[in-house]
Amino acid sequence: MARILEIAELGAPVIRQKAATVTDVHDDQLQAFIDDLFATAADENGMGLAAPQVSISKRIIILSSHPNARYPYAPNMEPTAMINPELTWGSSEMHKDWEGCLTVPGMRGLVPRHRTIRIRFQNREGVLIEAKYEGFLARIFQHEVDHLDGLVFLDRVESIKDLVTEKEWQKIIANSRQP
Ligand code: ZN
Repeated sequence: MARILEIAELGAPVIRQKAATVTDVHDDQLQAFIDDLFATAADENGMGLAAPQVSISKRIIILSSHPNARYPYAPNMEPTAMINPELTWGSSEMHKDWEGCLTVPGMRGLVPRHRTIRIRFQNREGVLIEAKYEGFLARIFQHEVDHLDGLVFLDRVESIKDLVTEKEWQKIIANSRQP
């Protein structure tokens, strides 16, 4: 039975550590942990989750994009576990958009990311997968992989003025959707 894990927030040392490469994908404890990550991401309604966010410093992320109230424009995807994920190429074209993070509650920031990326990871069966992402999926992949290197979205904003509170962000989003 999968467990809901506690989210580590900014200030927890694990959030600033470089996570370790996974060497044995087939380990039973690791497989159970992936189930816990899925359950925790679903419980938090997160678009993604990285192992360091639940205090496990290993290179594992979950991507689980789906439209919701926080991100109405998010594409739907089958929740996917990515082990030892890597960005192998990023477009020179960057795109700025809003991000939030369970580890940084109450804040939103305008974050520049590569618009298109090529990536590589192992799935939970240990199969090496290569893919190309763009837009929102490319964004959440880059956000989650940053967590494996001890970075949060605050490190990527170009100016402190690109940071807002969740309450004010709700107003910005509501206004931007008006015709
Ligand atoms: Zn995050």
